[in-house]
Amino acid sequence: MRFSKTYVRTLREVPTEAEVPSHILMLRAGMIRKLVSGVYGFMPLGWRCLRKVEEIVREEMDATGAQEILMSAIQPAELWEETGRWKAYGPELWRIKDRNGRDFCLGPTHEEIFTDIIRDGVSSYRQLPVTLYQIQTKYRDEARPRFGLLRSREFVMKDAYSFDLGEEGLDVSYQTMYDAYSRIFTRCGLTFRPVEADSGAIGGKGSHEFTAFTEIGESEIAYCENCEMAANIERAECRDCDPSPTDEALLPLEEVHTPGTKTIEEVAGFLGLPKEKTIKALLFQKYDEDGKEDGYVAAFIRGDRELNMTKLVNALNIPEFAIAFADEDKMGQATGSVGGFTGPCGLHDCTIVVDSELPGLKNMCAGACKVDHHLVNVNYGRDYQADIVTDLKVLKEGDACPVCGAPVRHTRGIEVGQVFKLRTKYSQSMGATYKDEKQQEHPIYMGCYGIGVTRTMAAIIEQHHDEKGIIWPVSVAPYHVIITLVKPQDEAQATVAEQIYQELTARGVDVLLDDRNERPGVKFNDADLLVMPIRITVGKRAAEGVVEYKLRREEEKEDLTVEEAIARADALVKAEIRGI
Ligand code: ATP
Ligand code: MG
Repeated sequence: MRFSKTYVRTLREVPTEAEVPSHILMLRAGMIRKLVSGVYGFMPLGWRCLRKVEEIVREEMDATGAQEILMSAIQPAELWEETGRWKAYGPELWRIKDRNGRDFCLGPTHEEIFTDIIRDGVSSYRQLPVTLYQIQTKYRDEARPRFGLLRSREFVMKDAYSFDLGEEGLDVSYQTMYDAYSRIFTRCGLTFRPVEADSGAIGGKGSHEFTAFTEIGESEIAYCENCEMAANIERAECRDCDPSPTDEALLPLEEVHTPGTKTIEEVAGFLGLPKEKTIKALLFQKYDEDGKEDGYVAAFIRGDRELNMTKLVNALNIPEFAIAFADEDKMGQATGSVGGFTGPCGLHDCTIVVDSELPGLKNMCAGACKVDHHLVNVNYGRDYQADIVTDLKVLKEGDACPVCGAPVRHTRGIEVGQVFKLRTKYSQSMGATYKDEKQQEHPIYMGCYGIGVTRTMAAIIEQHHDEKGIIWPVSVAPYHVIITLVKPQDEAQATVAEQIYQELTARGVDVLLDDRNERPGVKFNDADLLVMPIRITVGKRAAEGVVEYKLRREEEKEDLTVEEAIARADALVKAEIRGI
C-alpha cells in the first residue's frame, strides 16, 4: 500500500478519555474511531490488524475440524425465554422491539441460537460430535464500558459450540479447544496463562479463562509459584484454616456489652481478641426476575476474611444482579438483624449462608442481634445453624494454595478467551437430544468457547508497546514493513523504494510505502506511531544501492544493500508469522 493513497489520520494529542496504553495508541495511530461510549469503528490500519487476529483464530479453529458459520446478531426473545435467560441476563442484554412490538435482542452470545440449530438438524448419535463456530459482532450494554476495545458495548467475538454424545466426548472437545486457544494466543504474541474460572451455578471444574498478564487487566488471578494452580479470584477455592483442637471445650454462650463496636476491628480491640476469633456478618437483599424484593440473606465469614460475591451468588443459585446490600433498618424489622451487631444466633426469616471454615471453629465472637452487644463462645451446631455451608472466602495473597499449601500470589490480567463445559444446561431446557443405537433419547452434551477478538487486539498492544508507540508482533502487524522514502522527488530514492516495495509485495510481505511529500521529521514520527515491525529507510545512499534497515523492537540500525534488506525482511516475516 502506498501511504499517499491511504486514509490514515494520526493524532498528535492524547485523547483525554483514553486511560490505558492500548486505547491511547489505537486512537493516536488512527486505528479506531469512537462513535459513542463503548462503540468503535475500525479504520484501515485497525481493520487490517483485526483481520489478521481473526485469520489466526480462523486457521486454528478450522484445524480442529470446527466449521465456520455466521448467524445474525438479532435474536428473537422466544429462544431466550426457553432457557430463562430473557429475564436472567439482566440489563446487559440489549433488548429491541420491531415495529409490531415483538421482542428481540442484539446477541451478547449465541448459546440459544446454536442449540436451536442443532435441535433442528440432529436426531441420531451418528450425526455427532460436531463443533460450529462464528466470528461475529456481539452486543452487551455494559454498565461501565471503558478502556477502548477492552470493554466495549459492541465487540467482535469468536464463539464456538461443541455438541457431543456424553461427558467423555465433551472432555475431548474441550481439550481440543483448550489446545487451539493456547496456539492462537501464542501466535498472537501474548504472554498468557489458562486459569481456572468460575463456571457459575453449573459448578464443577468446567471452565478456564485465558488470561493475558497486564497491570491494567480487570481480572485478578491467584496463582502458585510452587505448583500449577492458577485461578480467577472469583473462582479460586480456599483451604479452610485448621479447625479448633477437638479437645477445646465448648464454653457457655455469653452476652457481653460492647458499646459502639460496629466493626470487626473495634469489637476485637475492645474484647482483646484476635480477628480470627470473630465472625463477620454481611447482609443482603435478594430480588426476583422482575426486580421485586425477594427475601434477605445473611452471610457469615471469619472476621479477618473477605467475602467472595461470586461464591455467594453461586451458592444461592441467582444471577449477580439479583442481590444487593440490604437496607439495615428494613432488614432489621424483618429478620432481627441489627446493623453492626448482627450474628447468626437469633436471626429469622432470612437465608443464612455460613463459610465452610466456621463450623470447625469453637468459641467465636459474633454480634448478638442487639444494639451494643456481642456474644462470645458462639459455636456452630449448638448456638446457630445454617441454610447453606459453603466456601465463601476470597483467596488472598499469602493464603495457603488450595493444591499444595504454599503461599499464593496475586496478579492482574485481561481475559481474552474462555472455554466452558455447559454439559446439558441448554440442551435440556431447549430439548436438543439425540437417539442412541437402541433408539433411546439423550440430551446432547455441549461446550462453548469464546475469544474476544477485538479485546485480544487491545491486549496485544498492552503487552507490546513503549512510550513511542506499538511494537507489533509480526503475526498481527497491519503491515510487516514500512519503507520510508525520504525524498520522493529524488529519482534514485524513488526507484529503489519502488523496487523494494514491488519485490517484497511479490513475496507476500505486507508493505506500506511512505511515499508522501512530507518533511522527513513528520514521516519518522509517523513511522514510530505507525510502527511496523521492520523499517527500511531509503535515503541519501540510495544511488549506491544502500538502505537503512531497522527493527522496531531493537535499537540498532544497519546499512544493507537493497538485496540484503529484501532478503532479511522476507526471512524475518516468514520465520515469525506463525509465532511458534
Ligand atoms: P467479562 O468477565 O470480561 O465481562 P465475560 O466472561 O462476560 O467477560 P464471555 O461471555 O466469556 O465474557 O465472552 C467471551 C469473550 O468475549 C471474553 O473472554 C472476552 O474476551 C470477550 N468479551 C466479553 N465482554 C467483552 C466486552 N465488553 N468487550 C470486549 N470483549 C469482551
Ligand atoms: Mg468469560
